[in-house]
Amino acid sequence: MPMYKIFSIGDNYLTTNRAKAYHVTMIMDIHIHTHFSPCSIIKIPKLLCRAREIGLDGICITDHDTIASKPVVEDIANKSEICVIVGLEYTTSDGDFLVFGPVDYIPRDMRAEELYRWVKKEGGVIIPAHPFRSSRPVTLNILQYSEIIEMLNGRNHSSENESCRNWISKQQNRIKEVGGSDAHTIEEVGKIATVFEKDIYNSDDFIRELQHGNYLTAAYESLQMISA
Ligand SMILES: [Zn+2]
Ligand SMILES: [Zn+2]
Repeated sequence: MPMYKIFSIGDNYLTTNRAKAYHVTMIMDIHIHTHFSPCSIIKIPKLLCRAREIGLDGICITDHDTIASKPVVEDIANKSEICVIVGLEYTTSDGDFLVFGPVDYIPRDMRAEELYRWVKKEGGVIIPAHPFRSSRPVTLNILQYSEIIEMLNGRNHSSENESCRNWISKQQNRIKEVGGSDAHTIEEVGKIATVFEKDIYNSDDFIRELQHGNYLTAAYESLQMISA
């Protein structure tokens, strides 16, 4: 298992004394939009090439309210040597939520409370996306329901990520953090990563590790391998 030095808090406030040595098996960017989102231009074959090229072990495709990438992914993903998981970013009037697991039959237009209940009942994972982004925040009393939160988002200002980190630090270790690039262009892929201690091959593994495993968020360029 490779040992990395990880600066667990990303963006511009990385400091060496926050760095810690950590066993990393999977480096994943868990928040990426493809051209199936109206706002992204990323094509899936190129995405897979890029992810492999920069050394990611896995990615999650999280298009806005759609899993339309799934047939394309199923067609090419097993040739790509990296783990590809299709989730989605669900839009509500209380903010945006990454959903993993039961996305094939997820009902549309649920309110945030309903969405939480539904995802939980179906055994999935729901993660508030960029909850402190000023243009698209998550309502605070909804945030309270969360067990996992996207603390680092590649498209946020550092101050928005910092606000999120501050809020999480006041929750008595109740909350686990993830990070993702929120890439809408190929250059953004992998800017922020979540690193996992155990192998993830499919959606079930991913859900299990999110719920019970160990992981950290990191700015990708700050990951530094110490020993293999
Ligand atoms: Zn978008
Ligand atoms: Zn997004």
